[in-house]
Amino acid sequence: MAIKKLVIAGGGTAGWMTAALASKLLAPNVTIELVESEQIGIVGVGEATIPPIQTFNQVMGLDEREFLRATNGTIKLAIKFENWRVQGESYFHTFGAPGAQMGFCNFNHFWQRAKALGDKHSIWDYDINYLFCEQNGFNQINTQNPLYEVPYAYHFDSALYGQYMRKLAEQAGVVRTEGIIDHVAQDPATGYITSLTLQSGQIIEGDLFVDCTGIRKLLIQKTLGVAYEDWSELLPANSAVAVQTDRLETLVPYTRSIAHAKGWQWQIPLTHRNGNGIVYSDKYMSDDEARDTLLKNLPAKTVNEPRQIKFQTGRTTEQWCKNVIAIGLSSGFLEPLESTSIHLIQSAVVRLMKLFPQQGIDQVAVEAYNRESQTEYETIRDFIILHYYVNERDDSEFWRDMRHLDIPDRLRHKIDLFTQTGVIFNEEHDIFRDSSWLQVMMGQGLQARDYHPAANAMPDQAFLQRMAQLRQVKREPLSQCMPHEAFLQKFLG
Ligand SMILES: Cc1cc2nc3c(=O)[nH]c(=O)nc-3n(C[C@H](O)[C@H](O)[C@H](O)COP(=O)(O)OP(=O)(O)OC[C@H]3O[C@@H](n4cnc5c(N)ncnc54)[C@H](O)[C@@H]3O)c2cc1C
Repeated sequence: MAIKKLVIAGGGTAGWMTAALASKLLAPNVTIELVESEQIGIVGVGEATIPPIQTFNQVMGLDEREFLRATNGTIKLAIKFENWRVQGESYFHTFGAPGAQMGFCNFNHFWQRAKALGDKHSIWDYDINYLFCEQNGFNQINTQNPLYEVPYAYHFDSALYGQYMRKLAEQAGVVRTEGIIDHVAQDPATGYITSLTLQSGQIIEGDLFVDCTGIRKLLIQKTLGVAYEDWSELLPANSAVAVQTDRLETLVPYTRSIAHAKGWQWQIPLTHRNGNGIVYSDKYMSDDEARDTLLKNLPAKTVNEPRQIKFQTGRTTEQWCKNVIAIGLSSGFLEPLESTSIHLIQSAVVRLMKLFPQQGIDQVAVEAYNRESQTEYETIRDFIILHYYVNERDDSEFWRDMRHLDIPDRLRHKIDLFTQTGVIFNEEHDIFRDSSWLQVMMGQGLQARDYHPAANAMPDQAFLQRMAQLRQVKREPLSQCMPHEAFLQKFLG
């Protein structure tokens, strides 16, 4: 069966990102129709991203200035984790990689040798992203020298981003249909979905269906009955309260993640307002207490009513089943601690485009798709667990319980390997590379017992001099760094 018509159910960030990329790559040979309901609306949160979003924007042909203006966006260089290891301390997980490639082993081995020789500098003193964050500044460094790289992502209003994608998709020929999907028809022999019937009676037929209906999971779960793998034993948070406040006077170039006694709070600076919220498990904190904690810790006056969101951490056991692919919240959910949901959408759409069937659906492609998305979900899950599991807080049952989580074997091995040897292996399909794992492991208080012998190649004094030079080199771009606010004003006009 030739795939001639793609139907996307749902028009949140997931639906419109899918429509935008699919129309760019497949139209006009594949017709694309998107159904969404204004009455149902979108989840409407999700404002922090990670650097691969730049690649997606480039493929979509976005002009960075225009995109930032249209989404009230700001620059994101890192996440600042406050009170996560112990109260009163903070560390950054930056998008940069501390240090430089100095030989066979990773930079942390050299840093550890310097420490053993009495050097007191932190590993972040070798990271431009961190140095920029400390100055509340940013600039695009125009150089080919990889030592000066400043990888960045964005904070933006995700509803506006969705609208931006919608404009591109409609320009490329995507047909948008308004209405509530009331009935889903299946082929009695194969179980494949054949059409969606709207409350108005309109019938939308298709060959391949993308389920972007958010937490409703209308096609993948309600219709096809694909099971949901619940990870709440590993990540107990199941609730959030979100509220917007006035714009902050100083726009920091990072997301703030502030740990409280029984949950954590996000603060995301946009140019017109600040996004705020608290994530928690209602087993440890009532909804009222969470709301009070959030409202007591806001940086500015609220501009809307706090909104509660309930979620279940986990994923559908298959993300592609028969002729349905679940993308976005319909495929699963991981709390926004590392801002990964929009990335999971991007990655899923790209994977679908790579495996897009021409003549009928091939089970080999379906299996490849499902295998890759499973690893991607699981490695992000493990990375998020790390933040909770390795903590030294003793001020609540919540933090004490987190230290006794029965963590997955893959994470256990990763922690053991690092603490015994200082080595971190990059795993295929793990979007977080060794520099991310290193920063969070060290930030949360893990220390490696040993370092690699290759780091001992230089004599002590020459080596320490080399490390000092590297710190100096890493500080050179600071002369081009501007206050974040001033950069945005100059860049956006
Ligand atoms: C508290 C919280 C914080 C988050 N923070 C971040 C973050 O910082 N960074 C990040 O990357 N992600 C974040 N996310 C995730 C992010 O919000 C979502 O991944 C993103 O918005 C995509 O949502 P979606 O499109 O899958 O679902 P939705 O936005 O819910 O869209 C669902 C669509 O389906 C339609 N629909 C549903 N049922 C029907 C029906 N029967 N008929 C017709 N239409 C229907 C709806 O109308 C809507 O258009 C966060 C999520 C939460 C809960």
